[in-house]
Amino acid sequence: MNKSISVREARDRILERIRLLPVERVALGEALGRVLAETLIAPRDQPPWDNSAMDGFAVRAADLAGATPEAPAVLDVVEDIPAGRMPKRTVGPGESARIMTGAPLPAGADTIVRIEDTHPAEAGSRVEIRVAAELGRDVRRAGEDLRAGAPVLEPGKLIGPAEIGVTAAIGRSFVDVLVRPVVAILATGDELVEPGERLEPHQIVNSNGHALAALVREAGGVPRNLGIARDDRNDLRAKLKRALTADVVVTSAGVSVGDHDYVKEILEELGTAMTFWKVAMKPGHPLAFGQLGDKPVFGLPGNPVSSMVSFELFVRPALLKMAGHRKVFRRVFGAILDEDVKTHPGRTHFLRGIVEERDGVARARTTGPQGSGILRSMSLANALLVVPADRAGMKAGETIDAMYLGGGGVASDARPF
Ligand code: AMP
Ligand code: MG
Repeated sequence: MNKSISVREARDRILERIRLLPVERVALGEALGRVLAETLIAPRDQPPWDNSAMDGFAVRAADLAGATPEAPAVLDVVEDIPAGRMPKRTVGPGESARIMTGAPLPAGADTIVRIEDTHPAEAGSRVEIRVAAELGRDVRRAGEDLRAGAPVLEPGKLIGPAEIGVTAAIGRSFVDVLVRPVVAILATGDELVEPGERLEPHQIVNSNGHALAALVREAGGVPRNLGIARDDRNDLRAKLKRALTADVVVTSAGVSVGDHDYVKEILEELGTAMTFWKVAMKPGHPLAFGQLGDKPVFGLPGNPVSSMVSFELFVRPALLKMAGHRKVFRRVFGAILDEDVKTHPGRTHFLRGIVEERDGVARARTTGPQGSGILRSMSLANALLVVPADRAGMKAGETIDAMYLGGGGVASDARPF
């Protein structure tokens, strides 16, 4: 077996082999979380014309010089302009138009006076304006949001709620985005049964397949859970053949050097060029990576924490890259360690950690015992705490790198205001 390589080296070698998926056209309602594959251009100015930011009166600021509640300016009202109608009249000296929010500013007017600063006179045919107004006040300018002909969103942009809004605002009901990767997931092991199935004393439940499917979904992929393959060449061959029709293959277990670890052998037999690495990390360690053509194949370790952490470090960035994302890594930030931690030098350790802010400072502690079979630690953790390979541990008070986990960003149960 070859010697250990670093986490960074394994990750970089994987990522340099990852190609972009093709493009597909989706309805706007399906575009959230996808990556834009085209440049969107504004077909016209937005807003398309100068318009009112308030309900009030469109006026000429010069007519209001010196107006006060005691000595209001009195203007003729020449028109009523609701939103959704173009003005027909020009506002001349001594004139105004009643105007609603969003309605186009009439020619001749240069300023809006809010309704609260006015008083109707002569049954609405005239209006008293009780304040002087700064020229241009409460007028929204044509094109202040989007300029006709200018790019609005560029390829590679992650489509969030604001991008959905902007796309709709330019009148598009569909967009071209990168295809989402379909990821086949295959658990392997003679000891495994599915949740809900009858469990014999010698058996354990396949948790990896389900956790990995959820991780795929969280990374924007489409999981295809193929269940369990036995530690048997024929069963593995049949199931891996099916798996290899997906965009990406992820297997769990059977990649160590145990007597029944056939995953790598069968993948090679099916035409996959496999590399097998011992990655200098804990949890994790054995990691098989290969390609069938451009199709990436990941053989993850079987221990539940190892498989999830390996997914985080190697599979997730690859899936994001394939789907066109520019930002493929979890955010890493410093936190002050609240306890001493011991690690084995020579391996990068990813401790399950709980990071919380106290007095404006991020503080980190571990979830407790760190065995790679202690899956509950992943549930308690909100971050992986990274101890570099050249350290034999870290002391309370030191700053440790924390890598945030989880899909929906950082949540809190403390009311923010
Ligand atoms: P292996 O890589 O096959 O040596 O498996 C390592 C450890 O992970 C063993 O204790 C397995 O029982 C456990 N394991 C393997 N596959 C799964 C799975 N799908 N779900 C939960 N535990 C598993
Ligand atoms: Mg096994």
